[in-house]
Amino acid sequence: MNTSTSQSDLSHKSTLTIEDSIKTTCPYCGVGCGVKINNSNNQAIVTGDQTHPANFGKLCIKGKNLGKTLSNDKRLSEPKVNGVTTPWPRALDYVASKFTSLIEEHGRDSVAFYVSGQLLTEDYYIANKLMKGFIGTGNIDTNSRLCMSSAVAAHKRAFGEDIVPLSYSDMLKSDLLILAGSNLAWCHPVIFQRIREEKEKRPELKVVVIDPRKTASLELADLHLPIKAGCDLTLFNGLLAHLAENKLVDLSLDGVQEAINQSQKATKKLNDIGLTPEQIAQFFDWYTSHDNVVTVFSQGINQSQVGTDQGNSIINCHVASGKIGRQGCGPFSITGQPNAMGGREVGALANTLAGHIEFDDTELIDALGQFWETDNIAKGAGLKAVDLYEAVETGQVKAIWIMATNPVVSMPNHQQIARALNKCDMVVVSDCVANNDTIAYANVVLPAQGWGEKSGTVTNSERRISRQRSFLEPYGEAKPDWWILCEVAKRMGFAHAFTFDGPADIFREHAALSGLNNNGTRAFDISAFDNITTTQYDQWIPKQWPQPKGESICLTDQRFFEQGHYFHKNKTVKIVTSAELPTIPSDTSLLLNTGRNRDQWHTQTRTGKAAQLTNRHPEPIVDIHPVNAKKVNVVDQEIIEIENNGEKLHIRCHVTDEVRIGELFVPIHWSNDNANQGSISKLIKSIVDPISGQPAFKQTAVTISKLAYESEALLLVKEELDESQLTADIAPYQVTQNLANGYCYHIASDLKTSQLYDQLLKVLSENTGTLLKRTHDDYYQAGYLEQTGMQAGCFVSNTKKLLPAGWTSHFFNPSKFDEVKRELMHQKASDVIGKTTFCQCLNVNRDSVKDAIDSGSLSVQEIKEKTGAGNGCGSCIDDIITQLSLEQTSELIA
Ligand code: SF4
Repeated sequence: MNTSTSQSDLSHKSTLTIEDSIKTTCPYCGVGCGVKINNSNNQAIVTGDQTHPANFGKLCIKGKNLGKTLSNDKRLSEPKVNGVTTPWPRALDYVASKFTSLIEEHGRDSVAFYVSGQLLTEDYYIANKLMKGFIGTGNIDTNSRLCMSSAVAAHKRAFGEDIVPLSYSDMLKSDLLILAGSNLAWCHPVIFQRIREEKEKRPELKVVVIDPRKTASLELADLHLPIKAGCDLTLFNGLLAHLAENKLVDLSLDGVQEAINQSQKATKKLNDIGLTPEQIAQFFDWYTSHDNVVTVFSQGINQSQVGTDQGNSIINCHVASGKIGRQGCGPFSITGQPNAMGGREVGALANTLAGHIEFDDTELIDALGQFWETDNIAKGAGLKAVDLYEAVETGQVKAIWIMATNPVVSMPNHQQIARALNKCDMVVVSDCVANNDTIAYANVVLPAQGWGEKSGTVTNSERRISRQRSFLEPYGEAKPDWWILCEVAKRMGFAHAFTFDGPADIFREHAALSGLNNNGTRAFDISAFDNITTTQYDQWIPKQWPQPKGESICLTDQRFFEQGHYFHKNKTVKIVTSAELPTIPSDTSLLLNTGRNRDQWHTQTRTGKAAQLTNRHPEPIVDIHPVNAKKVNVVDQEIIEIENNGEKLHIRCHVTDEVRIGELFVPIHWSNDNANQGSISKLIKSIVDPISGQPAFKQTAVTISKLAYESEALLLVKEELDESQLTADIAPYQVTQNLANGYCYHIASDLKTSQLYDQLLKVLSENTGTLLKRTHDDYYQAGYLEQTGMQAGCFVSNTKKLLPAGWTSHFFNPSKFDEVKRELMHQKASDVIGKTTFCQCLNVNRDSVKDAIDSGSLSVQEIKEKTGAGNGCGSCIDDIITQLSLEQTSELIA
């Protein structure tokens, strides 16, 4: 059993007594792993919860390092109105009166909320109740719009309701597991670990990875389909046509013939989607010859102009061939965020009401009005995210409250978002961080509690509701989001409906609403808990929905559609015909794809605090195929320029055949806060799926060019620098990396190497201690040393390969002082590449893995046994495989 641990000092802030422990849920991805926090002598010991059905004790590297992200630096401590610290009552009065006066003057549609999958369900419930039930507009949308709203729309069209029918255990019970547009190994790592274990036990479990890129998920793949970006719809429509041709389709299904007719057009295009006929034939053959098939799909499917159709094309194949409603069978949309599903339950998407009630169900809306005691329920859907910010810019929406999200970074076309917020009469941001790219535009900032402080529920990708529990004292005057919202609601005159004594009270109402006139007509039903006591809520153990009132509580995995009961009015399922197939990209285009790195979460406001998580990818990197790199004459590690419509991004390149010719891949985790050039959203245009409104983040046409610059540097300091200390004329390209006890600035400059070195020495000149300097040809390094360790340093060169990322993480570590000093003074720093930490969990460096291979360990298992690498969270196993193949290739060449 892999149980992972990390530690953090809890003194002064824990609500746990010494030797106490608590169970909570990881705040990052949609896997929703259970986490145990133990207070051992004021050290938070973070381990995986062995009893949690999502992870059974496993954690990935992000979860494992949760304890390292508990510091309160960069936290927002007090409310501020127009930059002035303001007591809570006055700040709340201000927000409420401004909302009220704007509504009186311009109508209810002049205000909006933009919320987040980081909120707890209870927070989400209150936000939605206030906006859709009492202010009376549908203008509340969530950042989940950006990651899975196409899957939601596909579910509704096919099943009649937004339902993920399966459990994680179904993936493990399948015989054929298809990962479509999902790099599960990095984005949902604990599920991947569980599949890895299952495949070790059952090698006959076939895994197909459909992805333009060679991702870490290929480790388990029996078949990789490196499909061209944007061609999944053609592939799955082609599969439906193949199933029909082989008489494997139930022709009695609603809509099936029309869909088959449409899908037959796809067969003519299958030659153009980047796959060989043999690959397609193999895939189709496996699909038809395996009874138990699960297709996991994620952002690669959803974030497309045809995301909803793509989701439906996957569902169509399962439904039409009967591969649904049975163990180990079905389509599985896996969510990115920890509580995207919770938001969907309470109607945080602009086009749905709470409790999975739809805007066209007038009878139920009347019942909802009575339930909430309001006659002001929104009459129709509100503005979806992209439309919402356009309405802010045109002045149609005059006040927006943004909760726990950073749209200036995460939305496409961030210049437009910035323009819109700049023009807006009132921007309220409630968040737990003091600064981010969005807060820069806020009139009002309200300190919200962060993970470990707040308390409530979240629902993971398999519909499992778990508790997040508090174990830290709130920082400063931070409050729960539900409390902030209720206080504003009371001040707007809605006190009767917003007086709750805590999250359990809200959960009871949420559960009761799910059962409102339900009688099996809506799948989302947790009315069994409408009377749950606060003690029972506190003792909650994770369970999936549905849990209807009157039935015994189900603690085992549940699966939908086993009885063929769907949730359209006529209780049948629909096969959905897609619109026309999208144009297949030409071979000369260059398409930008975006996604996640293994060790980071969103814009790094939490994961960026843990030095262990910044090692692997300290800077944003664009993956580019050697053919495209050669065309513009750039080499690996060089910084290049990417352009779209006049917007430019400067970013270091990784020349690799892991991406297709004509495709680029850039991670989403950098913002203006940590990279003056790295925010990818400025290149993405606001093109959305017409049904779901989800932006197409995966296929942006761009151009690239070589960038002229003279020198590069790493600057290591203990205190973060401000713009006046490291100015743009010295460092037009700069990325800030958090280290343990300091910061590393990755710099590129137009100055000559010696000039940049002189400038950086000036930046460092306030440091004390002995200054040691060393020069090798056109390579300069310097460091300030004191008895206790390194104080600061810089490395300057014209080379494109300055220092291994992992090495810098040791720079301020007192226990590595001698080593750092020796390397600083006696070696060219670029010679220390072997010191790069390879396995973060067990601190195994690359040299150790190489040595093991050299001494005859030629399998992953042997290397794991010999070095320990790969025995923690397992995330570095794909690195071990890469290293093995590198060593074996170099042996062959030798
Ligand atoms: Fe957290 Fe997701 Fe990792 Fe689990 S897999 S520990 S939920 S980031």
